[in-house]
Amino acid sequence: MYTTERLRELDKLYVWHPFTRMREWLEGEPLIIERAQGVYLIDTEGRRYIDGVSSLWVTVHGHRKRELDRAIREQLKKVAHSTLLGLSNVPSILLAERLVRIAPKGLTKVFYSDNGSTAVEIALKLAFYYWQKRGRPEKKRFLSFSGAYHGDTIGSMSVGEIDLFVERYRPLLFPSYRAPYPYCYRCPVGRTYPECSLKCVERLEAVLKRAHRRISACIIEPVVQGAGGMVVAPQGFLREVRRLTKKYNVLLIADEVATGFGRTGRMFACQWEDVSPDILCLAKGITGGYLPLAVTLTTEPIFRAHLGTRKNPDAFYHGHTYTGNPLACSVALANLEVFEKERVLDRIQPVVELFSSILEGFRELRHVGDVRYRGLMAGIELVEDRQTKKPYRADLRMGWRVCMNARKRGVVVRPLGDTIVVMPPLSIKKRELKRLLSAIYESIREVTEGA
Ligand code: PMP
Repeated sequence: MYTTERLRELDKLYVWHPFTRMREWLEGEPLIIERAQGVYLIDTEGRRYIDGVSSLWVTVHGHRKRELDRAIREQLKKVAHSTLLGLSNVPSILLAERLVRIAPKGLTKVFYSDNGSTAVEIALKLAFYYWQKRGRPEKKRFLSFSGAYHGDTIGSMSVGEIDLFVERYRPLLFPSYRAPYPYCYRCPVGRTYPECSLKCVERLEAVLKRAHRRISACIIEPVVQGAGGMVVAPQGFLREVRRLTKKYNVLLIADEVATGFGRTGRMFACQWEDVSPDILCLAKGITGGYLPLAVTLTTEPIFRAHLGTRKNPDAFYHGHTYTGNPLACSVALANLEVFEKERVLDRIQPVVELFSSILEGFRELRHVGDVRYRGLMAGIELVEDRQTKKPYRADLRMGWRVCMNARKRGVVVRPLGDTIVVMPPLSIKKRELKRLLSAIYESIREVTEGA
């Protein structure tokens, strides 16, 4: 048996944590999770914490969901892994069929990978090559949005725009075009919603008008921009993006890595505005939060562009070792079965309503500048001065301090800068949700008002 102390020691000796300031980590007392149940994470000392960010936005029906545990055990009796390169396996076929059935229409082909960044990387390569084969070699650039986050690989970083993550690698990245994302609290075009009538769309159109001949695809996080600060786009924006990409003959890539699988209250965020993209990237919640799996869905024309001819057959020269892993696909199938059997999207509606009504109450806190939410996905932006929207100095690390304070109250949350992210599993019960939000409320008050 390893004691918590010994585990901490070993962690500090050997584990390099992602997106973590290791200098601080080495001086702290890391929380080590040993098990979990429902919405609770349980540490090596037996302490329970509400998983307020769904273990980085992935847990859907809670931890240790019986049906999901069982799906993995059953699949283990058959085969854990076999390759999809020139072979097939049962769960990957069944899952592909099922995904096509529930995806926005027109998306009929499923390409497997194992994380969100890779799903995006694949999307970019598919779009690029599609235009090469269509005799439009100059269409090799991409258009993305201010504040976008699409992953940490070189291609996905190239279409991303969170300076802290990307800036130092700029010399490695390829250039791409940007349009403003409707971050209404700090409007990028200096207007106010709804009087603005989506003025930012004009900026998007201006870029498309100028550069559409060089742009293969536009990539967007539909409805909610996640890592950029849980920025919720106003109704109608996504539909305008679809209209303009069609008008200017540019493919649309929807990155639903964060928003997919019920997170926004619909199965996919695109469905809020009846939008069908040309390429759809999914990961995170696809396995209910159990195993790494991702898919890039696309249309027949994009698939056919990669076929070549009988004389000159072609292939999409891309594939990862664990592509279409049977264990991951079988738990993803079980995840979708639970959505259907438990009518999860209907069942969560009252919880979503409670979530939004409690969150509205956060506006009364002196240092809460903005509260943004859709479905069970929310961001609470802290500011030093509400009148002027002046942010806190970065070195004060207010977001981080609030989250550490919340931990003392039995809640695990993680900020994006000074935006507190709240993303509980869809299975959260009303009383658990009230506990989670009241802990966060008290933490914000204590840290920002010293109360
Ligand atoms: N796209 C979006 C919208 C994301 O939110 C994320 C991860 N937070 C990614 C891509 C990258 O996914 P992964 O971390 O699985 O590579």
